[in-house]
Amino acid sequence: MKLYKNKKSNIHRHGLSAAINIKKGQKIIQYKGKKVTSNQVESNPKYNNEKEIYLFNLNKRYDLDGDFKFNTARLINHSCNPNCEVLEENKRLWIFAMRDIKKNEELTYDYGFSFDKDFKQYVCKCGSKNCVGYIVREGSRWRIKKIRPVLV
Ligand SMILES: [Zn+2]
Repeated sequence: MKLYKNKKSNIHRHGLSAAINIKKGQKIIQYKGKKVTSNQVESNPKYNNEKEIYLFNLNKRYDLDGDFKFNTARLINHSCNPNCEVLEENKRLWIFAMRDIKKNEELTYDYGFSFDKDFKQYVCKCGSKNCVGYIVREGSRWRIKKIRPVLV
Protein backbone atom coordinates (compact mmCIF):
# COMPACT_ATOMS: atom_id res chain seq x y z
CA MET A 1 0.00 0.00 0.00
CA LYS A 2 1.21 3.44 -0.87
CA LEU A 3 2.04 5.49 2.21
CA TYR A 4 2.13 8.81 0.39
CA LYS A 5 0.04 10.87 -1.95
CA ASN A 6 0.49 14.01 -3.97
CA LYS A 7 -0.59 17.14 -2.25
CA LYS A 8 -0.78 20.84 -2.85
CA SER A 9 1.83 22.02 -0.44
CA ASN A 10 1.65 24.81 2.09
CA ILE A 11 5.40 25.23 1.71
CA HIS A 12 5.89 25.03 -2.03
CA ARG A 13 3.73 24.38 -5.09
CA HIS A 14 3.88 20.62 -4.87
CA GLY A 15 4.47 18.22 -2.09
CA LEU A 16 3.74 14.80 -0.75
CA SER A 17 1.69 13.96 2.26
CA ALA A 18 0.94 10.88 4.30
CA ALA A 19 -1.87 8.81 2.76
CA ILE A 20 -2.35 6.97 6.05
CA ASN A 21 -0.89 7.17 9.54
CA ILE A 22 2.80 6.32 9.29
CA LYS A 23 4.91 4.92 12.12
CA LYS A 24 8.35 6.17 13.03
CA GLY A 25 10.98 4.23 11.11
CA GLN A 26 8.71 3.19 8.25
CA LYS A 27 10.11 3.28 4.75
CA ILE A 28 7.93 5.60 2.73
CA ILE A 29 9.27 6.01 -0.79
CA GLN A 30 12.46 5.43 -2.69
CA TYR A 31 14.44 8.45 -3.82
CA LYS A 32 15.17 7.42 -7.39
CA GLY A 33 17.57 8.92 -9.85
CA LYS A 34 20.58 8.40 -12.03
CA LYS A 35 24.12 8.12 -10.82
CA VAL A 36 26.45 10.85 -11.99
CA THR A 37 30.10 11.33 -11.21
CA SER A 38 31.33 14.36 -9.33
CA ASN A 39 33.16 15.40 -12.50
CA GLN A 40 29.94 15.34 -14.52
CA VAL A 41 28.30 17.52 -11.92
CA GLU A 42 31.09 20.04 -12.13
CA SER A 43 31.19 20.21 -15.91
CA ASN A 44 27.50 19.97 -16.85
CA PRO A 45 25.56 23.25 -16.84
CA LYS A 46 22.46 21.28 -15.89
CA TYR A 47 23.81 21.24 -12.37
CA ASN A 48 23.83 24.91 -11.74
CA ASN A 49 22.49 26.14 -8.45
CA GLU A 50 18.88 25.63 -9.26
CA LYS A 51 19.22 21.94 -9.98
CA GLU A 52 21.41 21.22 -7.00
CA ILE A 53 18.25 20.67 -5.06
CA TYR A 54 17.91 17.17 -6.51
CA LEU A 55 21.49 16.04 -6.09
CA PHE A 56 22.42 13.57 -3.39
CA ASN A 57 25.98 12.89 -2.55
CA LEU A 58 26.44 9.11 -2.50
CA ASN A 59 30.18 8.93 -1.96
CA LYS A 60 33.38 10.57 -3.12
CA ARG A 61 32.83 9.59 -6.73
CA TYR A 62 29.10 9.59 -7.25
CA ASP A 63 26.08 11.75 -6.77
CA LEU A 64 22.51 10.73 -7.44
CA ASP A 65 20.59 13.07 -9.70
CA GLY A 66 16.92 12.86 -8.76
CA ASP A 67 15.70 15.47 -11.21
CA PHE A 68 13.47 13.13 -13.17
CA LYS A 69 9.72 12.81 -13.46
CA PHE A 70 9.90 9.18 -12.33
CA ASN A 71 11.34 10.30 -9.02
CA THR A 72 8.16 11.15 -7.13
CA ALA A 73 10.20 11.71 -3.97
CA ARG A 74 11.62 14.86 -5.54
CA LEU A 75 8.34 16.56 -4.68
CA ILE A 76 9.02 16.32 -0.96
CA ASN A 77 9.80 19.73 0.49
CA HIS A 78 12.47 20.81 2.90
CA SER A 79 11.57 21.74 6.43
CA CYS A 80 13.59 23.10 9.32
CA ASN A 81 11.57 20.72 11.49
CA PRO A 82 11.26 17.66 9.24
CA ASN A 83 9.35 14.44 9.84
CA CYS A 84 11.38 12.35 7.40
CA GLU A 85 15.01 11.62 6.63
CA VAL A 86 16.83 10.11 3.68
CA LEU A 87 18.85 7.00 4.45
CA GLU A 88 20.75 4.51 2.36
CA GLU A 89 19.69 0.90 2.41
CA ASN A 90 21.32 -1.67 0.13
CA LYS A 91 22.80 1.12 -1.98
CA ARG A 92 19.41 2.73 -2.50
CA LEU A 93 18.12 5.92 -0.99
CA TRP A 94 14.84 5.83 0.86
CA ILE A 95 12.72 8.35 2.65
CA PHE A 96 12.09 7.10 6.19
CA ALA A 97 9.72 8.48 8.81
CA MET A 98 11.71 10.10 11.63
CA ARG A 99 8.66 10.10 13.85
CA ASP A 100 5.02 9.07 13.73
CA ILE A 101 3.28 10.99 10.96
CA LYS A 102 -0.45 11.53 10.86
CA LYS A 103 -2.54 11.00 7.78
CA ASN A 104 -2.54 14.11 5.53
CA GLU A 105 0.50 15.63 7.23
CA GLU A 106 2.98 16.94 4.68
CA LEU A 107 6.17 14.90 4.32
CA THR A 108 9.40 16.86 4.69
CA TYR A 109 13.09 16.28 5.18
CA ASP A 110 16.17 18.36 5.75
CA TYR A 111 17.72 19.01 2.33
CA GLY A 112 21.07 19.25 4.04
CA PHE A 113 22.37 22.19 2.04
CA SER A 114 25.67 23.43 3.27
CA PHE A 115 26.03 26.98 4.41
CA ASP A 116 27.86 28.95 1.75
CA LYS A 117 27.74 32.32 0.05
CA ASP A 118 24.69 31.31 -1.97
CA PHE A 119 22.48 30.32 0.90
CA LYS A 120 20.11 33.23 0.31
CA GLN A 121 18.99 31.70 -2.99
CA TYR A 122 17.07 29.06 -1.12
CA VAL A 123 14.31 30.65 0.86
CA CYS A 124 12.53 28.37 3.30
CA LYS A 125 8.83 28.80 3.92
CA CYS A 126 8.29 25.74 6.06
CA GLY A 127 6.60 27.72 8.81
CA SER A 128 8.20 25.74 11.65
CA LYS A 129 8.84 27.56 14.90
CA ASN A 130 12.55 27.05 14.42
CA CYS A 131 12.58 28.10 10.74
CA VAL A 132 15.60 30.22 9.89
CA GLY A 133 14.15 31.43 6.58
CA TYR A 134 16.63 29.61 4.38
CA ILE A 135 17.19 26.02 3.37
CA VAL A 136 20.36 25.14 5.22
CA ARG A 137 21.20 21.92 7.02
CA GLU A 138 20.56 21.74 10.70
CA GLY A 139 24.20 21.82 11.77
CA SER A 140 24.78 25.15 10.02
CA ARG A 141 21.64 27.06 10.91
CA TRP A 142 23.17 28.83 13.91
CA ARG A 143 25.24 30.80 11.40
CA ILE A 144 22.14 32.29 9.87
CA LYS A 145 20.71 33.21 13.22
CA LYS A 146 23.89 35.15 13.84
CA ILE A 147 23.57 37.04 10.58
CA ARG A 148 19.87 37.69 10.84
CA PRO A 149 18.78 37.57 14.46
CA VAL A 150 15.24 38.54 13.57
CA LEU A 151 13.46 36.50 10.95
CA VAL A 152 9.82 36.91 10.24
ZN1 LIG B 1 12.20 26.52 7.42
